[in-house]
This record gives sequence, structure tokens and C-alpha cells, in this order.
Amino acid sequence: MPDQYAVIGNPVAHSRSPLIHAEFARQTGQNIVYGQLLAPKDAFAATANEFRAGGGRGLNVTLPFKGEAFRFAAFLSERASAAQAVNTLKFEGGVIFGDNTDGVGLVNDLVRNQSCDIAGRRILLLGAGGAARGVIEPLLQQQPAELVLANRTLDKAQRLAQSFRGTFEAGTYAMLAGRQFDLVVNATSASLTGELPPLPPGVFARGALAYDMMYGKGETPFLALARAEGAAMLADGLGMLVEQAAESFFIWRGLRPDSAPVLKLLRQTQDA
Ligand code: NDP
Repeated sequence: MPDQYAVIGNPVAHSRSPLIHAEFARQTGQNIVYGQLLAPKDAFAATANEFRAGGGRGLNVTLPFKGEAFRFAAFLSERASAAQAVNTLKFEGGVIFGDNTDGVGLVNDLVRNQSCDIAGRRILLLGAGGAARGVIEPLLQQQPAELVLANRTLDKAQRLAQSFRGTFEAGTYAMLAGRQFDLVVNATSASLTGELPPLPPGVFARGALAYDMMYGKGETPFLALARAEGAAMLADGLGMLVEQAAESFFIWRGLRPDSAPVLKLLRQTQDA
């Protein structure tokens, strides 16, 4: 019997995770099946428990359940505790272990796929939701020259900075006037609705990398602005998706798949 895994969410039909993990399993010769689990919005724990009772070994967790998965896990990794969100659950010997691989996914995509050296760079992170929270600790671990977080709602930015003991500067977009950054990461959901975060002109330094966590939307207004303002490199979040999946696969199976051919495959199917 193959070991069972799945992605749980609502909605979940659009998820690329089954394709990614099927490729990882084929590549590494692991005998697993990976499906999709649509949980009613008020029944995350019941659905996850049912999957577990049926022999399920692990789950990837997507919107809107990352906070519930954080509360569901009995043991948490340090990065899941910092993120206050779980995107990877592992069921082993009656224990529920929760981790968050989104942040390391972003860092690995930047370093491996974009050849972006984060150490010593000036980073601007846009947004103060779950995605932004999840990447703060892994970005800080790379020892950037500075990490500045801008959010539309000041209160949310400030509370987030406080929960990280003020290890980075946080405020609204107004504080960015006249400042420049080497890496600008859009962790807002603005691209989802074709909107643009209210960036003042000139935030992209010469040679800057503009990164939109959104994927599958073509050139978003954020990336179009970055291009117009002379950013040297533009990236969407598809690499982050594949790299976070590779880290989940490692947590479950103890093997590191090669993410590059899977990312290439996804790009081909996305463009087709
Ligand atoms: P949340 O709903 O938790 O947070 C949304 C954030 O976006 C808030 O900070 C909100 O600001 C801000 N925002 C929304 N609209 C605008 C706008 N028009 N202008 C400026 N700010 C805006 O979402 P998540 O953090 O969970 O997700 C954010 C994005 O990251 C999504 O697009 C998601 O698809 C992507 N993502 C990608 C992943 C990947 O693997 N590539 C993994 C995880 C997420 P305010 O506080 O003022 O409301």
C-alpha cells in the first residue's frame, strides 16, 4: 500500500501540489499517493482527523486553514511557531507535527533559482498577512542589511513587528518615499485582484529583484511597475511553491527531490 498524503484547503481543485509531489515521488522512487482534500470551511480538524484515521501520513495545508492547522498540531517547528501558521502536517506514531515551509521555500527560490544573494541586501517586504509573517524569520536568518515591512494598515504592520520583538522596521507605504531596496517582495494579495500596492516611485535600486508571491497571473501590476521602474529581475511565486513543496517532501520522506525539472514542467504546462 502506498503512503497517503494530500493537500487540504477550500477551494483546493486549482492546487498544483498533487502534480508537484507526483513528480517528486517519481523522481525519488517513493511509493506514495498524493490527493486533494476539500474541507468544509468549518470542519478543518474533522476532515484532517478523518484522513489521519484512515492511515494518512501527512498534509499540505492551504487557504484558509493555515492558522487552524497551527492550532491543530501538537508539536511545532520553530519556524511554524514564528509564522503562527502551519502548511505541513506530519502524522507519525500518534503524534501530529506541524511545520511551515513557505519561508524556506521563498529563500530557496531566491538563492537557488534566482541566484539572489540575500546577505547584505536591503529587503522590502510588502504586506502583513500570513504569507509575509511566514517569510520574515527565514529572510532575517540570511542576514540582510535591512528588512523593512510596509503595509496598507499601519496597526497590522506594527503588531507584526512587535511579535518579532522589533527586529525589523515596519510602517505604511508613506515611509518608503526616497528609499531604495535591492529586493522587493510582494506578499500582499493585491495581485489576486489586479491591484497595485501603493508604492512611491523609485523604490527599486539599480539591479533590484522584484518578486511577486502570486503566480499564474502573468505579469502582475506589481511586476509591470517594477519593469517600468528599471528592476533588473522579475520573478513570480511559482518557484516558491515548488521549493516549499520540496521541503515538505523532505520532512515526510527524508529525501530532497530535485526541484528544477519540476519547476520547468510547471512553467511549460502554465504557458501551454
Ligand atoms: P492575507 O489575506 O493574509 O494578507 C493580505 C495582505 O495583502 C494584507 O497585508 C493586506 O493589507 C494586503 N493587501 C491586499 N490588497 C492590497 C492592496 N490592494 N494594496 C496593498 N495591500 C493589499 O493573504 P496571505 O498573506 O495569505 O497571501 C498573500 C499572497 O501571497 C496571496 O496572493 C497568495 O496567493 C500568495 N502566496 C503565495 C505562496 C507561494 O507559494 N507562492 C505561498 C503563500 C501565499 P491590509 O492589512 O492593509 O489589509
